[in-house]
Amino acid sequence: MGTDTREPLLSANEKRSADEFDEIPPPVAATTATRPKKSRFRKFFVHAVVLSLVLLTAHRWVCVIRPQVEAGVERLAANPFSLFEHHRGHPLEGHRILNGKLAEKLFLTVPNEASSIAASRKYAGKPHLAGSPQDLVTAKDFLSLLQSELGIEPPEDEPIFSAGTTASREATLSISKLDKPTAWIDTYYPVLNTPVDHSLEILEDDGSVAWKADLEEVADETDPDAGQFAESVLAWHGLSKGGEVKGKLVYAKYGRQQDYKELIDSGVDLNGTIVLVRYGGIFRGLKVKGAEELGAAGVLIYSDTHDDGTVTVENGYIPYPNGPARNPTSVQRGSVQYLSLYPGDPTTPGYPSYENSTRTDGVNIPAIPSLPLSWNNVKVLLDEIESGRNRTISLVNHVDDKVTPLWNTIGVIPGHIKDEVVVIGNHRDAWVLGAADPTSGTASIHETIRGFGALVKKGWKPLRTIVIASWDGEEYGLIGSTEWGEDFAEWIDEHVVAYLNLDGSASGSRFSASASPSLAHLYHNTAQRIPHPTKPGLTLWDATKDSGVLTGQTVDPEVVQMYEAEAQLDDSIGVRPLGSGSDFTVFLQRLGVASGGEGFSSTLQDPVYHYHSVYDSERWMELYGDPGFFRHVAVAKHLGLVTLGVADSIVLPLNTTHYSQELEAYLEKVESIAASSSLDVDFHGLKKSIKKLQSASANLDKEKFKAEKELKRIIRHIIRKRIFRRNVRRAVCKIKGIFGKKCECPHKAELQHMNTPVVRSEDGRAFKPRIGRYPAWAQEQHNAKRGLAHNKPRFPKKRLEKVIKRIREVNQKLVAFERGFIHEEGIKDREWYRHLGVAPGKWLGYGATTFPGLTEAFTIDNNSTLAKYEADRLKGLIDNLAKAIKP
Ligand SMILES: [Zn+2]
Repeated sequence: MGTDTREPLLSANEKRSADEFDEIPPPVAATTATRPKKSRFRKFFVHAVVLSLVLLTAHRWVCVIRPQVEAGVERLAANPFSLFEHHRGHPLEGHRILNGKLAEKLFLTVPNEASSIAASRKYAGKPHLAGSPQDLVTAKDFLSLLQSELGIEPPEDEPIFSAGTTASREATLSISKLDKPTAWIDTYYPVLNTPVDHSLEILEDDGSVAWKADLEEVADETDPDAGQFAESVLAWHGLSKGGEVKGKLVYAKYGRQQDYKELIDSGVDLNGTIVLVRYGGIFRGLKVKGAEELGAAGVLIYSDTHDDGTVTVENGYIPYPNGPARNPTSVQRGSVQYLSLYPGDPTTPGYPSYENSTRTDGVNIPAIPSLPLSWNNVKVLLDEIESGRNRTISLVNHVDDKVTPLWNTIGVIPGHIKDEVVVIGNHRDAWVLGAADPTSGTASIHETIRGFGALVKKGWKPLRTIVIASWDGEEYGLIGSTEWGEDFAEWIDEHVVAYLNLDGSASGSRFSASASPSLAHLYHNTAQRIPHPTKPGLTLWDATKDSGVLTGQTVDPEVVQMYEAEAQLDDSIGVRPLGSGSDFTVFLQRLGVASGGEGFSSTLQDPVYHYHSVYDSERWMELYGDPGFFRHVAVAKHLGLVTLGVADSIVLPLNTTHYSQELEAYLEKVESIAASSSLDVDFHGLKKSIKKLQSASANLDKEKFKAEKELKRIIRHIIRKRIFRRNVRRAVCKIKGIFGKKCECPHKAELQHMNTPVVRSEDGRAFKPRIGRYPAWAQEQHNAKRGLAHNKPRFPKKRLEKVIKRIREVNQKLVAFERGFIHEEGIKDREWYRHLGVAPGKWLGYGATTFPGLTEAFTIDNNSTLAKYEADRLKGLIDNLAKAIKP
């Protein structure tokens, strides 16, 4: 618009007054001057409230909720299956899940020295040779232990089954269907023997007796048990050949292959001789086998005090029972089975020994007689050799060979994942009293079982099923475990993820662990979490470097060298591969189940451990072996945590990467053997395959990590939601409370019902008693309805199921790793052994030989065609394994 033609908007008067107004402060300014004061305060107040709310929330989040969430994640990740259970969604659920760290914490409070000593006194107080009436008593004692600790109501008929019968078959085959703990005894029927009478004499030329050995151990009241039972199990060799032989004495050191070779090379003829060897270095049966193959008539094996390290009379130590040195009458009994050929009942190789099984002649036992000797007796024989008189020796060994019942006691704690089972085991039979071998292991596992019992009583259900075995007849040749393994080979193959063994757990100062490389880290790391049994501030793992304190000037350098050579077998983290000589053998070497073993054993500076002698007694143990039983308890705790580690971890703690790295070390060992041989074998292909396996394992590790992370993410989400809901519910309750309304937990009645003890009717049916008739019935109906509403999953069920499936696939691959070393054709000349990664050395027995087929192609056969064949066979196996574990 241009010019304004209208009247002015304000009249002159009005204009003036407006001008007047201009002189006083505008009202707007007046309002802004008073309002800011009030508003700033409110703003400050609001800010302060918001800020403190934020701070409070943050504090609550960081200090209360997040730890709660993470603890819940840890617990639920150890057992996500509990989410699917009836009480899903309950706000108190977190308190119910007793897995992971919480289970470990409670478990560790249970094993103790007093209980362990009591168990030791019970089992080692009487001789309990396999197959003897006392052995059956201990089998039943162990059954009662399982029943009372695991809350198993003893059935009316004693659950003792004859192997091969429906009852026995069902017991094991239904392990993967069980809902509550159970226990029973399986009876196997191997052919074993017992001593009848025996003698050892030096004969004059005219046949008259110049000297007759007193072959039995001598003991008195100083050690009351030894005094009472010194002659209750005669000093003989289990599974030895009965017979009467005569011959000239030949001394053959430790009876190793190199010892025999040395004799042959120097022109000694062993045909028709009585070979005298000392204990140590290799399994005793193989000493006899070596002599037998060279035509010897009989074998004598003696305990040499030089093998006792520094703890000898020479160094001023007094013999047991008055001191720590060797009692010179002590004798090492023991089996002379040809362990590296095959273990178990000699007459049923590869299949179970039922009462009516068809039997073979048994080729893993000697064809010539043998006897064990004490230091006192052998001194006379060594004199005879040194003096050059070398008169004829007469050796008589009468034995009673017969079918002998054996009793394996087995208990089960069912888990959520029923088709994945961890087996722990320890043999129970002893040559005489066996306070260390095996009772120290039995007293340890006794405490482990009590620990699990305490958890079971608190409602713990492991993620995986745990089977506990008390094997029989181990001393004769791993009989009980082997027969069970052969009986249920298919079931074990399908279900068992790991086997954890104990034999003697405490006979000296040094702790050691032997295991499949996949379990090495678990054994090692767990030992670092357990305190040293006697030295404050140190861990159980530190005890792997411990030695005894009984030092001395004189010690046999060859003995020291042999002792130290054993330590060379440790892997990069200090865990040794398993050979044989205990009950893990069938699991690892025949069925390919990752296995481990542990325990304290004696060093060259420890009180002399009277292995397989009557002096392996309770008194010796309490005085010298493990005063205070701290080592027994440390092993119990360690075994328990390792078992919980395998049973309660959603991803199996099997480290295939460490395993595949160890394979490289195995190959390097073969290469160095090959380099010193005249054979020309190329290992490039094998080496490449191992590298491929390593990268396949690295990929599996990635998948393992990702799957577990995803699981935790889902669980974290569920828990956060639950905590939020719980907080809301509490707030509502509080508000209700203000208005005087009752606010009861909707689950209370249900929980009360759960806690009401079960009552059994006369016919054995279980029911929960009601309090009041109609009101209780109405409440039950109400609860049942609400229970249905309850069942609506309040969590991402599908997602959770998917990730669990993914983890289960990873676990199957982890288990398949050890299985992958099993070759159906087995190891040459000893096909029972089928693991091409590790086996007891053919001429070692106890000791492990890695890549046995390939290694022995050099060390025993010295045959390049065979070596090439074995290298190819191994390469094929490893290539398949790399494919099998591809995620
Ligand atoms: Zn043993």
